[in-house]
Amino acid sequence: MSNSVLIIDDSSTVRERIIKVLESFSLFTRYYEAEDGLEGFKKLLSAPVDIILCDLEMPRIDGFKFLSMLKSRPDLQDVPILILTGMDDRELKIKGLEQGASDYITKPFDPGELVARVKVHLKIKKLQDELRRSNELLLELSNTDHLTGLFNRRYMMDALDKEVQRCTRNGGFLSLIMLDIDHFKKVNDTFGHLQGDIVLQRVASQLQKELRNYDCAARYGGEEFIAILPDSSLKESVFVADRIRLSLQALKFSGALSPLNITASLGVACYPSEGVSSVDDFIKVTDDALYRAKNNGRNRIEFHEP
Ligand code: GH3
Ligand code: MG
Ligand code: MG
Ligand code: MG
Repeated sequence: MSNSVLIIDDSSTVRERIIKVLESFSLFTRYYEAEDGLEGFKKLLSAPVDIILCDLEMPRIDGFKFLSMLKSRPDLQDVPILILTGMDDRELKIKGLEQGASDYITKPFDPGELVARVKVHLKIKKLQDELRRSNELLLELSNTDHLTGLFNRRYMMDALDKEVQRCTRNGGFLSLIMLDIDHFKKVNDTFGHLQGDIVLQRVASQLQKELRNYDCAARYGGEEFIAILPDSSLKESVFVADRIRLSLQALKFSGALSPLNITASLGVACYPSEGVSSVDDFIKVTDDALYRAKNNGRNRIEFHEP
């Protein structure tokens, strides 16, 4: 495991002694040194570390100023800071802890105690990092459809809610496209459910390809997809929807899925428009348009006509 430490102290003797002790326990693979808070802060920005040992009393930028500079950087909040204080600096220890330090080490330090405290804070940092990573993963999983990697319905509903609010506040347009693969049941019946899953993945990635980066594509249900197109008029979205339709019709499947061809039906609507003043209306009229596309023969687009 590779750990790095930053030691900030105006005394080079203190820095050397600390490094010597830490080296003898092989706790770190990288050691960074700085003479005051400013140099320490600069080093930190160019090379993030796992732990910081920081003297309080230093010329120019002292330990307290360093602590307050760190507060402006949310990305560095998790790095533990152990302040180095003199034996009788009770007030300074308290002040340092109140200002964001994780712990203190009294100078002249006892090597055993220094190493023990550093180990404890490295362990806490490691646990915190793991916790943050699993929270991020959890969030991603709770927003994502596991089969296609697109957003899931719940995320899409939240996003749509926000986009509709934004549109209401700032003006402009917002469009919704709903897509349902035609006769998908037959794909499953002919090629099996697993191959059906592959078709769903291909459709999802094709949909993503045809959209812009700031559009939001989601899996709405089994073989139904939905796309939110911010800042798009009805005319523009109908154009996009037709491009999607044509590109799905042109998809080639190989291997076990050869010689499959698929088509899809799409419904399009725009917000705001006549009869569309809420998220529920918006979804309803888009769904109605999709339903008409199915009834009017499939492999086609229908839109909500104001
Ligand atoms: P239509 O043209 O009217 O939309 O016909 P359809 O067969 O596509 O529609 P229907 O609603 O009758 O069937 C949808 C099928 O989608 C049935 C269901 O088994 C299948 N399906 C839903 N979710 C999944 C999935 O995750 N994987 C696979 N392989 N199939 C799925
Ligand atoms: Mg000093
Ligand atoms: Mg369906
Ligand atoms: Mg279908």
